[in-house]
Amino acid sequence: AEKPEAAFREAVIDLGALTANVAHLRELVGTEHVMAVVKANAYGHGAVECARAALAGGADWLGVADLTEAVQLRDAGIEAPLLAWLHDPDADFAPAIEAGVDIGVSSIAQLDAVADARRALVAAGRLHGQALVQLKLETGLSRNGISEPEWAATFARARALEKSGDIVVRGIFSHVSNASPDDDAAAIDTYTRGLGVAAAAGLEPELRHLAASAAALSLPDARFNLVRLGIGIYGLSPFAGRSSADLGLRPVMTLRGRVAAVRRVQGGTGVSYDYTYRTSSETTLALVPLGYAEGIPRHASGRASVSIAGGTFRIAGRVAMDQFVVDVGDHDVQVGDEVVLFGDPATGVPSADDWAEAAGTINYEIVTRIGARVRRTYV
Ligand code: PLP
Repeated sequence: AEKPEAAFREAVIDLGALTANVAHLRELVGTEHVMAVVKANAYGHGAVECARAALAGGADWLGVADLTEAVQLRDAGIEAPLLAWLHDPDADFAPAIEAGVDIGVSSIAQLDAVADARRALVAAGRLHGQALVQLKLETGLSRNGISEPEWAATFARARALEKSGDIVVRGIFSHVSNASPDDDAAAIDTYTRGLGVAAAAGLEPELRHLAASAAALSLPDARFNLVRLGIGIYGLSPFAGRSSADLGLRPVMTLRGRVAAVRRVQGGTGVSYDYTYRTSSETTLALVPLGYAEGIPRHASGRASVSIAGGTFRIAGRVAMDQFVVDVGDHDVQVGDEVVLFGDPATGVPSADDWAEAAGTINYEIVTRIGARVRRTYV
């Protein structure tokens, strides 16, 4: 898509690329269902817009962490099936139940809280059907999920609440650590055993899911009948040694801005806080108006590079809250020029992976942390 002229601080979100990534991944994994994971404002890309683009690419489920994220999608008019899996200990499940959100449940206490909220809604005349539930099993990640000793009792309670008409169990799911092939195989075994225990308790729900992007791509046995795809749909690789292009994906976010100031300085000039950088000879410094308030990692100071006017230049000195400086040498850079921090490396700009490497982190964190002052522009 043709990109409009850069704004001061801007993340350009290529929704066509997102739709194409979903369609490509869907084809690759071949599962009956694909859940697009749009938590954390769609990894910083914009939840509502990305949810719609993912559905257009063939995703038939949406996944988020928080109930509030789910309700916000419903409020925006998104009616697709939607699962939320991480809850405040005192969560009020009523708004999500009323909005027809599937609630990921990790304990008997949560099951009972969901059933209570559902009964209160029915008594108030605000709901006629059941609450929708998916049971989350602990299979080795040591986060939430029903642990093996609790399976039988929890499944029995879930079945009883189905019989009383309070809930419908629509799925059983878990999540893998991607620690090693052996660890993942152990998680698949544990999960499969959990499905067997559930079936013995009379629970054989339609949806069975374990894999996120990495396992979906690398472990066919982890696919069951739904995969939950996050990072891949944003065009980024979940694997350290493989790029977006290796996986046939196009990065969705281009982070850019406009050069806010240019100054010609002598050799030996100190730059930014603490003077961790001094110019070695006469040179031009350009000011980029994005800082750690925008999610630019301070740890990338002196390491990451940006593209300006056809050249690639490294950050000079410390990243500050709102801005950083690059040394552009004798390159012709003007105030107002577009500066691209990262985007699709096929276009010659740095990638989110380059930034992740420079900052000692993962591409997930680079995109997800992009802050609220950065305008999202959808193309
Ligand atoms: N499923 C669950 C439970 C998650 O927490 C996440 C994200 O961390 C995902 C799926 C998506 O993971 P990925 O972005 O690696 O595809």
